[in-house]
Parts: sequence; structure tokens; C-alpha cells
Amino acid sequence: MGNYILKIKSIDNVTHDVLRITIDKPVGFDFVPGQATEIAINKKDWLKEKRPFTFTNLPTDDFLEFTIKTYPEHKGVTNELLHLKQNDELVLHDVFGTINYKGEGVFIAGGAGVTPFISILRNLKSKNEIGNNTLIFANKTKADIILKKEFEELLGDAFINILSDEKIEGYHHGRITEEFLKTSVSSFDQHFYICGPPPMMKSIEDQLINLGVHKEHIVKETF
Ligand SMILES: Cc1cc2nc3c(=O)[nH]c(=O)nc-3n(C[C@H](O)[C@H](O)[C@H](O)COP(=O)(O)OP(=O)(O)OC[C@H]3O[C@@H](n4cnc5c(N)ncnc54)[C@H](O)[C@@H]3O)c2cc1C
Repeated sequence: MGNYILKIKSIDNVTHDVLRITIDKPVGFDFVPGQATEIAINKKDWLKEKRPFTFTNLPTDDFLEFTIKTYPEHKGVTNELLHLKQNDELVLHDVFGTINYKGEGVFIAGGAGVTPFISILRNLKSKNEIGNNTLIFANKTKADIILKKEFEELLGDAFINILSDEKIEGYHHGRITEEFLKTSVSSFDQHFYICGPPPMMKSIEDQLINLGVHKEHIVKETF
């Protein structure tokens, strides 16, 4: 696949530090829910700065959507995205990704690590196949939860939130542990999809193995 220079259709906040960016979709452009692409900003000093971001729209939509957590303190690409507006341009590179849906299971995300699951779960919903899938979403605070309302509608009680930095009634508090998983998960003989920052990934994978999950049932992507 070649590179595409594409115009931003819209750019809005979905949380205090997460942007939703939509862009025009080129004819024939295709991806599988869970896949990502490398993006650069089409401005003189930014063209070489490519960063991976995941498609969060449905493959059948006539636009492409990204849900992007911004880090102003890095002074990198996500900070620069904060200054973009409609009709500014992004450059999309190859499509890639290791997370794709293999069957019902438990999705475990940390922060922006939820993005591959947005497209996968929206796609299942569009086919009426949400089934018994569960999403465990770990964040620092309630304000950090991306698409809270949509996940509640999509998954009901199968949307489980855990907050590390805030104690709020109705939300689990702390970090994901084996004890927490034992009380939140009905079976360890199913698929587990994990996506988040490296320390979280390592810790959860170790816990799942200890709890008897088969290695081949663990599908993961490190952010
Ligand atoms: C396959 C894949 C898919 C992804 N999809 C998404 C997605 O859909 N949505 C999403 O939000 N994220 C996603 N990510 C993560 C995303 O790619 C990064 O958050 C993004 O690259 C950060 O880019 P940046 O230029 O803003 O900062 P960085 O590239 O992290 O940093 C720019 C510079 O800032 C400096 N820096 C680094 N860390 C710090 C720090 N803590 N404090 C100060 N300075 C620092 C370094 O010098 C670095 O060179 C994905 C990652 C992968 C691997």
C-alpha cells in the first residue's frame, strides 16, 4: 500500500486529553478491526515523525476515525495534533496490527490501549454478535474513561471499570490483580485480549498464565 495524504474532516475532544479525529477514506482503503497505521502530520517539520494509531471506526464507514490520547509534555506528534483543525492534512502509511478478533472472551485495556477494542466491539455490535464478551478497562480516574457511555450501552454489566487513582462508589479501585480477575471473570478457558503500556501488559499476562489461561488464548498488543 502506498502513502495517502488525507484531509481532516473533524477534530474534537472525547475526554479531557483524548481527541477523536475523522478523515476522508480513500476509495478501496481497507483494514480489519484492531489494525493500526503509522501517521505523520503533513507539515514541513513533521513529515518524518510517524506514530502508530489504531482505526476506531467500522470498516464499512465512509470515513476513517482515530481516538488519540495526547501528551503535550512529550512535545511530539500528539501535542502537535492538538493544534490541527479541519482541512489540515495527515499522511497515512502501511496498515498493520497483531490484535484481531478470534472469538468470545475478555478484553483488558489500560488507557488508550482500548482503541483496538473500540473497532472490534463496534464491529461485533453491528453484526449483532456482542455475545458474552467482557471489557475490563483500567484508568487512573473516571474522567480518563474513553467512550464510557458507548461501552455501557454496548456491554451493560460486562463493562467493568477499575480506577487506580480514585475511589468512587460503583467502580473498582486499585490495579488489576489475580484476585480481581478471579472475581471479575467467569472462566479462564476463553480468549483474553490485552492492550496497554508495557508494565501493565507484562503483569497481566503473568497473572493470566498463573490463573491457567493457555498462552495461545492470549492476544496482545503493547502501546
Ligand atoms: C500499534 C499501536 C497502535 C497505537 N494506537 C494508538 C491509538 O489508537 N490511540 C492512542 O492514543 N495511542 C495509540 N498508540 C500509542 C501512540 O502511538 C503513542 O502514544 C504516540 O506515538 C505518542 O507520540 P508522541 O509523539 O506524542 O510522543 P512520543 O513519541 O512518546 O514522545 C515524543 C518525544 O517525547 C519525549 N518523551 C517520551 N516520554 C516522555 C515523558 N514521559 N515526558 C516527557 N517527554 C517524553 C521523547 O524524547 C520522545 O522522543 C499506539 C501504539 C501502538 C504501538
